[in-house]
Amino acid sequence: MTIRTHSLKIDTSKNFEIIDITSQINELIDIDEGIISIFSKHSTSSIVVNENESGLLNDLEFMLTNLVSDEFSYMHDRIDNNASSHLKSFLLSSSECLPIKNSKIDLGTWQSVFFIELDGPRRNRTVTLTMVGE
Ligand code: ZN
Repeated sequence: MTIRTHSLKIDTSKNFEIIDITSQINELIDIDEGIISIFSKHSTSSIVVNENESGLLNDLEFMLTNLVSDEFSYMHDRIDNNASSHLKSFLLSSSECLPIKNSKIDLGTWQSVFFIELDGPRRNRTVTLTMVGE
């Protein structure tokens, strides 16, 4: 059994941004079979798996904006004014654990892995990849 770790650095350019990181991750996979943990080391971003269709990605932003309204005042805003970004991150996930087959993530036909920026723009967002397998 082999354990491999890599870091992916991501610069974002908007406050809310969805970035397809599937191919970047696949390039870093250096085992044949196993599992990969994809973990964002930030509490105002997320890692999710879904379909890369532009209308759907706009719908995700629409849904999150409506679920976590900027019209309310949140307690965390007294500290650093980004409560809505944290709250959207609570609704999503900070990591995904996925199967690896033939040195690629074994995704379904319509699935991609996304990094979701919820409090950008930011430089050097860090996503940790941990692979276990052989
Ligand atoms: Zn904060």
